[in-house]
Amino acid sequence: MNKRSFFQKILGLIIINNFITIKKIMAEPKVKKTDAEWKKILTPEEYDVLRKEGTEIAFTNALNDEKREGNFYCVACNSKLFSSSMKYDSGTGWPSFFNTYPNSLEMKTDYKLMYPRTEYHCANCGGHQGHLFDDGPKPTGKRYCNNGVCLKFIPEKV
Ligand SMILES: [Zn+2]
Repeated sequence: MNKRSFFQKILGLIIINNFITIKKIMAEPKVKKTDAEWKKILTPEEYDVLRKEGTEIAFTNALNDEKREGNFYCVACNSKLFSSSMKYDSGTGWPSFFNTYPNSLEMKTDYKLMYPRTEYHCANCGGHQGHLFDDGPKPTGKRYCNNGVCLKFIPEKV
């Protein structure tokens, strides 16, 4: 076996393994709708990111600068995902959080940029929200890089 085909085989195994893991991790969402039903409910921008795993352009969503106290909900199904106390300014131009409400998100690996990235979905409706990185602040060291268009902010009543 030459070196190249050896690495191709290894790469193949890694990819197959990851797909098996994805199947195991991705539980069935509680809210299930057809593509046509989602299209009716969501705006074209929301549909593109939530259902087609698109990414909004950085610094375009007002929630990036949202600093009030309150909670961030999935715009598609109203599931509570983040609190303002979990938010921080990462400088990336996307709303960023170092933590999330327990069991509100599900992880998946994607290969859109040739290297694996951890993508996360709303656990309740399966809608794509953003990507998870390991360069966040303490105590978690995590950065949930979220598309603002997928979130709805409700400020806390004072
Ligand atoms: Zn949702």
